[in-house]
Amino acid sequence: MSEGDIRLEGLVKNYGDVVAVDGISLHVPPGEFFTMLGPSGCGKTTTLRMIAGFERPTDGQILLDGVEMSSTPPHKRRVNTVFQHYALFTHMTVAENVGFGLRYQQVGKDEAKRRVDAVMEMVQIGELGERRPSELSGGQQQRVALARALVLEPPVLLLDEPLGALDARLRLDLQVELKRIQEQLEVTFIYVTHDQDEALTMSDRVAVMKDGKIEQCDVPAKLYEEPDTAFVANFLGSANLLNVEARAAGDHCEVMLGNFTLRSNSSPEQAGVGKAMIRPEYVKLEPQGADGENRVPGMVEEVVYMGFHQDVRVRLANGDLIRATVPSDGESPEYHQGNAVAVYLRAANLRVLDDSPEKATGETADQADTAAA
Ligand code: ATP
Repeated sequence: MSEGDIRLEGLVKNYGDVVAVDGISLHVPPGEFFTMLGPSGCGKTTTLRMIAGFERPTDGQILLDGVEMSSTPPHKRRVNTVFQHYALFTHMTVAENVGFGLRYQQVGKDEAKRRVDAVMEMVQIGELGERRPSELSGGQQQRVALARALVLEPPVLLLDEPLGALDARLRLDLQVELKRIQEQLEVTFIYVTHDQDEALTMSDRVAVMKDGKIEQCDVPAKLYEEPDTAFVANFLGSANLLNVEARAAGDHCEVMLGNFTLRSNSSPEQAGVGKAMIRPEYVKLEPQGADGENRVPGMVEEVVYMGFHQDVRVRLANGDLIRATVPSDGESPEYHQGNAVAVYLRAANLRVLDDSPEKATGETADQADTAAA
């Protein structure tokens, strides 16, 4: 087995009455870029800290390459952590900071220098070796923190909002670089963030967390296109959520939106009173009177200019408000308040969501194996 295989089984962490992590099971195979995404307080950091060994689980198991680690102290675990706040040694140069951890490993001086130089080149701070941390920008300091962890060549790197303190532009640059470095080194990355764009751009798979549990775990495109719950739909991108009654109809669902009957290609197992979701970019506006399947009449209520697109808000004939993204490409029609339109909600993009509480369960290790295969 290659190194860097992480398995969590029924992981729980309670702080007194607070259930911070509520039974998480997942499998991250070697070399995967795996992200835990969720709002503040959902248990991401606590999960990461248990993997690192800074917190002891109340229940459950953590296996690294098949070996249970719960009683192994942090410095004996073959994982390293990069935090949002880099905590560099201010009295040392950049190169000394990067090489610091190697002092405690059986690494000769020449070998240490070779590794420090190589990793500094990789994170593009090769020129900065003699500077002190106080002479670096925030982005450069975070590169040093990353280099300091990578130089130890851990099979697993844990990253807790490492780009959180940086401005938006720099974050974008470093996201691309982090992904490149991760692919080059084939290290398992377990990354924590509350930033959906960051999670979608970099990750092989993402676990969306809520209240200490995994709400849904999948590859980014699947989470975005096929969210299981309203929470996931809303957390990743913007979503129109409509209150509907969904009935099973052969191999699909029939969705009652007020008096309108629409088709959804969702599985008939999703049927029930619930919510239907469609992303604004899939809502198509057509001339008033256009007919055919899944057209609902409506009236434009507001148009918000967003630069590369317009956000057109339309009151549907059943009373619901729906948002449509119309590109500002000079070819799409211009819409104004009061325009009568037909709103086309394509069956393939209209998704019935199951929001029963029991749906929001953690992923089992078997499911994770299937996803990773
Ligand atoms: P954030 O994005 O804000 O860091 P998070 O998803 O990482 O949030 P955690 O820090 O894991 O969330 O916290 C999960 C829950 O556990 C929260 O309700 C938090 O208040 C609680 N918690 C975390 N650490 C402790 C602690 N040492 N003592 C008591 N409660 C804690």
